[in-house]
Amino acid sequence: MDFKQFNLHPKVQAGVEAVGYQTPTPIQLQAIPTVIAGQDVLGLAQTGTGKTAAFGLPMLHRLVEGSRGQVRALVLAPTRELAEQINESLTALAQQTRLKSITVYGGVNINTQIKKLREGADIVVACPGRLLDHISQGTIDLSKVEVLVLDEADQMFDMGFLPDVRKILRVLPGKRQNLMFSATMPDDIRRLAHEILCRPVTVQVSRTAPAATVSHALYPVGQHLKTPLLFELLKHTDTESVLIFTKTKHRAKRVGEQLEKAGYKATSLQGNLSQNRRQAALDGFRDGTYQIMVATDIAARGIDVSLISHVINYDIPDTPEAYTHRIGRTGRAAKTGDAFTLVTGEDEAMVKSIERVLGSKIERRRVEGFDYTVPPPKKDAEFARAPREPQRKKQPAAATQGKPAEAKSAQGAGRPAQPGSSRGPGASRPGGSRQQAGQRQGGNRPAGASAGAGEGQRAGAQRPGNQAARRSGR
Ligand code: AMP
Repeated sequence: MDFKQFNLHPKVQAGVEAVGYQTPTPIQLQAIPTVIAGQDVLGLAQTGTGKTAAFGLPMLHRLVEGSRGQVRALVLAPTRELAEQINESLTALAQQTRLKSITVYGGVNINTQIKKLREGADIVVACPGRLLDHISQGTIDLSKVEVLVLDEADQMFDMGFLPDVRKILRVLPGKRQNLMFSATMPDDIRRLAHEILCRPVTVQVSRTAPAATVSHALYPVGQHLKTPLLFELLKHTDTESVLIFTKTKHRAKRVGEQLEKAGYKATSLQGNLSQNRRQAALDGFRDGTYQIMVATDIAARGIDVSLISHVINYDIPDTPEAYTHRIGRTGRAAKTGDAFTLVTGEDEAMVKSIERVLGSKIERRRVEGFDYTVPPPKKDAEFARAPREPQRKKQPAAATQGKPAEAKSAQGAGRPAQPGSSRGPGASRPGGSRQQAGQRQGGNRPAGASAGAGEGQRAGAQRPGNQAARRSGR
């Protein structure tokens, strides 16, 4: 079975051949004919299933005939990394069509975007906040939009973008094709789907279970031994490209530095980096300059590295959905991958929830020769307070709500608290909570408040009261 069966426009088919796709993925098999037929689609698909081409190819097929230089397709994405990734894929697939795709997101100069919009674009891949800025300034004309794609709708909700999305919908032509993709289907997303989609065809690759090409393992360990165990795992595992997840930005930075010190080609991705440094870290990970990337859930959104061989959860995620998202980074498009999770005694309830979603028990492993008996140090350096950040006069609302910003965002404001949403032992100590206060201070500042911060980092965006700060930060 190959892409020829879809009878895509020859110029679009030429793009498929240029990027080297040979066999359509299951979501592509289901979605492409439906989208070509002009129907609305609700796609339940996780990262790594090939969903970008699933909506991108039929969209290009539709756009390739018709007028040029007007925005005829709008793709909304929750983070700038995802927007860049979609734009890259669409640009590669459209290389023979002379259709132009551009990105629009916050945290970068708006004038460059205005210039590109003036020059004429056929497809705009946008994060909602900055797109609204363009709408209110009259620098974008969306009156010719024929196709709307809402990608990672559940993440859009988690990050508090639904009100912005609704505002955007109001300026779009009523007659259009709507395609919505989401890895999970919480009630708010189901409601949104009812509002937006007209008699949609649902295409579903798997429920919330991660790709079958991923094998999972748990490594029970004391909190204080996580870093030595991580080193031991890396030493004894044949890895190509490893994505490590931590609960906080501080920890991502710290683990990244420790790995680098130990001689690994490692980098970390955390919200406080400037846009240039983020891009350099992402590019370096993609092109193999870095073998290891350490990141939080929010920072890692949209990372597309097809060759990731291992995802290691240094900290267990807060929800089974977040686990699925993380694990979606490995085993992409039918490649196999391994997912290792370091777990402490406090993580048992979350492990059970994850196992329920997977539908099977995850293997518990011990690393041969590793000394599990080393007692915790009296003063736990691993969870010492983060370096103090400059005091800000006005704290974003989230900072007063007593929850770690990243963790809360990953969990989603509208979702019920998950059983066993665990914190590391350090987090409940006075030192630990001070650390998190420091994190919040840095992490939840309004998007524009630090150089390069922007959309996709709005960890506190969903909290009422933070909206104003968020808007002002664009
Ligand atoms: P996505 O889920 O759209 O982020 O795609 C995940 C990865 O799979 C990307 O690196 C795509 O380039 C790749 N991919 C998508 N479709 C195919 C295909 N039919 N064959 C091989 N790789 C694909």
